[in-house]
Amino acid sequence: MNRKIIYLDHAATVPVLPEVLEKMLPYFTQQYGNPSAVYRIGVENRTAIEKARDTAAAAINVQPSEIYFTSCGTEADNWALIAGAEAFVSKGRHIITSAIEHHAVLRTCQYLEEHGFEVTYLQPDHDGVIHPEALEAAIREDTILVSIMYANNEIGTIEPIEALARTAHRHGIPFHTDAVQAFCKLPIDAKAAGIDMMSVSAHKIGGPKGVGFLYIRKGLRLRSFLHGGSQERGRRAGTENVPGIVGFGEAIRLALASMEENAIRERHLRDRLVNGILEGIPYTRCSSTAENCLPGLANICFCHTDADSLLILLDMAGICVSAGSACTSGSLDPSHVLLAAGLSHEDAKSSVRFTIGPENTEEEIDTVLTRLKEAAAKLRSNSASYKKFIASQEETL
Ligand code: PLP
Repeated sequence: MNRKIIYLDHAATVPVLPEVLEKMLPYFTQQYGNPSAVYRIGVENRTAIEKARDTAAAAINVQPSEIYFTSCGTEADNWALIAGAEAFVSKGRHIITSAIEHHAVLRTCQYLEEHGFEVTYLQPDHDGVIHPEALEAAIREDTILVSIMYANNEIGTIEPIEALARTAHRHGIPFHTDAVQAFCKLPIDAKAAGIDMMSVSAHKIGGPKGVGFLYIRKGLRLRSFLHGGSQERGRRAGTENVPGIVGFGEAIRLALASMEENAIRERHLRDRLVNGILEGIPYTRCSSTAENCLPGLANICFCHTDADSLLILLDMAGICVSAGSACTSGSLDPSHVLLAAGLSHEDAKSSVRFTIGPENTEEEIDTVLTRLKEAAAKLRSNSASYKKFIASQEETL
């Protein structure tokens, strides 16, 4: 890929940082030993994994023995929910989550429903906030698990995690959070927040794809998700992805060091983009409006345009953005998150997510604004619904 692109889809994935790649490379070729082996190149790999585990644990203020590396954030979510549900089934079969979770959680909940569990999906308010009062009201005698995401991947809302965990704990219920979008973007103290399980992924923070971890609080007995060898202290079988884990450790170290600086930068560019769109393109609305929102995320409805067509025009101009989450792009259904936040089907299908990263510049944002204006005008000029809308506006005048 030689063409210069403007990449504004950092919530989908980000490039592996050069320093991360450099740290990973030896583990593919020279340093290839199996970490369970007794000879030196094996033991050295075990040491490298434990170093990454120390870094991951320190990042969220937990013990290294509470971190279990997985193949991705999705696996961590599946493990937490399925093994969590099974672990507490003697107490009941009711699980609470939210309607705006990533499909890694929602589809796992559907799987559990097919296997005899009952799931309540809490509705957010218009800003995407899941209120602790709503959780309190949904808790029942037979509730065994609560799972609410730390920050939403489509509208960026940061949930009141401490209050939600406290609410679950008041009833003796364990609390899981999908922190894939929040990890290393926001300071997270899992101990202080009372989180019992937390899912994380490496490829959102400059690490490689195909690595994640699940934090499981000491004392919470979850069965192994993959059966086989005794890796990850017997709780997650399978030869470890050593290059991936080493890269993940390095990505965490780098992301934490620049977290504050990146947040300030991203917020500034996001505001420039949002203000530019709302002021420069008629009939646009921002849906990422929560007071507590991920710094680099903006979700905008370009009324009377089709988001998929907008994406194609922007792609032709070398600009990468998305409609909905990466895992649902290409789907004909409007985003379940936007619908839950109160948007109509039509507005949800006209919405585009922009996620800014550390390498973006003001100049890039200005180019995107120009291209967006052109693209929206082009699509609307061909849109029967837009023409009808304008005619009705003129009639009222
Ligand atoms: N949870 C959230 C909130 C996400 O945004 C994503 C990825 O987009 C995932 C889970 C899945 O993570 P992974 O791609 O590592 O499986």
